[in-house]
Amino acid sequence: MFKRIRSYCLFGIKAVPVSVEVDASQGLPGFTLVGLPDNAVRESRERVVSAIRSIGKVVTGYRTTVNLSPADLRKEGSALDLPLAIGLLVSAGEISVNRLERYVFVGELSLDGLLKPVRGILSIAMSLAKDGSVLVIPRGNAQEASLVEGLRYVCADSLGECVGCLESDDDSCIKTAEGLKTNYRQEREDVPDFENVVGMESVKRALEVAAAGAHNFLLVGSPGAGKTLCARCLPGILPEMTEQEILETTRIHSCARRAGDSGEFKPVTSRPFRTPHHSASMVSLVGGGSRLAPGEASLAHNGVLFLDELPEFNRSVLEALREPMEEGSISVSRASGTVVWPARFMMGAAMNPCPCGFAMDPKRECTCLPEARKRYRDKISGPLLDRIDIQVSVPPIETKSFEGNPKGESSASIRSRVCKARDIQRERFAGTTYRSNAEMSSDAAHRFAEMSKGTEKFAITAADRMNLSARGYYRLLKVARTIADLRGSGKVDVEDLSEALRYRAYR
Ligand SMILES: [Zn+2]
Repeated sequence: MFKRIRSYCLFGIKAVPVSVEVDASQGLPGFTLVGLPDNAVRESRERVVSAIRSIGKVVTGYRTTVNLSPADLRKEGSALDLPLAIGLLVSAGEISVNRLERYVFVGELSLDGLLKPVRGILSIAMSLAKDGSVLVIPRGNAQEASLVEGLRYVCADSLGECVGCLESDDDSCIKTAEGLKTNYRQEREDVPDFENVVGMESVKRALEVAAAGAHNFLLVGSPGAGKTLCARCLPGILPEMTEQEILETTRIHSCARRAGDSGEFKPVTSRPFRTPHHSASMVSLVGGGSRLAPGEASLAHNGVLFLDELPEFNRSVLEALREPMEEGSISVSRASGTVVWPARFMMGAAMNPCPCGFAMDPKRECTCLPEARKRYRDKISGPLLDRIDIQVSVPPIETKSFEGNPKGESSASIRSRVCKARDIQRERFAGTTYRSNAEMSSDAAHRFAEMSKGTEKFAITAADRMNLSARGYYRLLKVARTIADLRGSGKVDVEDLSEALRYRAYR
């Protein structure tokens, strides 16, 4: 008997509909699987037959042909186990399911018939939310599916439970997802608070401006000056994620999930702060590889990608970040087509001023030769540096500032200013594709960064004196626009520009 079972495969972040066509007929027993399966899919037959045996059914003894359609799409992973098992069962007449065509099956089976969660369920759920289909998934994926409001789904722990639900034809098994709960927001516990960072007011202010306009930033300072600590405080002053952003980001993290990942999958409700090590490879940073998984840059979507020890990164790896910094996405080309990963992040970086680290320290002497210093700085290309709007030097901490255990301004209080500035930007960019000042094109910067009288002349003189490129000039305007937003001012003043000029310290 011929049966067609609906399922989905992942291609990058996209969920692509796949049908599993099963034909079991009388004849010499055998099993043929066609339609570009990868090894995991090819091996699924063994898992599936054993899982079916575990629920007391037999599907061997037929001449079975399975076709995975569309035939030109490479099917990867183990998520097709469940649709294959259901296909074999109905095709062999072992079970009968009413309205089979309304179900979409996704899930991995173990030999004893247990259903194991798979990656990318959120993408699949999002493409099914509106069409009235019922998604049948492992219980381990249920929380993720429930994020998509209106989705109808069935979750089960085992093949037996799943078959029981289908045969009963009882809609009480079917749940309707409520969407993101209103109480989803939780404070992150691993984020240090700025109130515990003593002194360093200029660095805190620079990070406030960066957070307010979503500008990329670079902190340059001696080892131990507190660059990394300050950067780690950053998530505490960023605005909360919107529901849309939570879904976007969770979807990427869901695709990155590894088969062996145990434990419940939680939606990403606070802005990611990713800190890849400087030995990171191209694939781990921008994605791709044999699993076609997203890289750190995509996992940082809607959050921060922080590169500590920037010059230690492989130069070609850093250059690969230019595309996402400009486009907000990364495309990875494969024989089977191009996968586009969203990757809109704020890039943060930290570095020493020279190989020994003490070039800016008044108390210690730098022992680097001038060529060594130049080579060190040259590791970061001009075009990359050009995309970093805010560059600040981090002075060494003076020990006397610790006297009396003083407290700084709290992250919550800084965040309230950041949020106000973001609100102004949201209003300004209504009807455009921009979300923050950092994203403005040169034209937009010219249009939106309206300057008060006399300021433009000041800006041009300063740009001349600092030998800024046209791109550099507009970057300056964007940062000045953010500083004016933090003050709540409609026009950019000389003081805003002067502050913005200070953030071009490292060139
Ligand atoms: Zn040095």
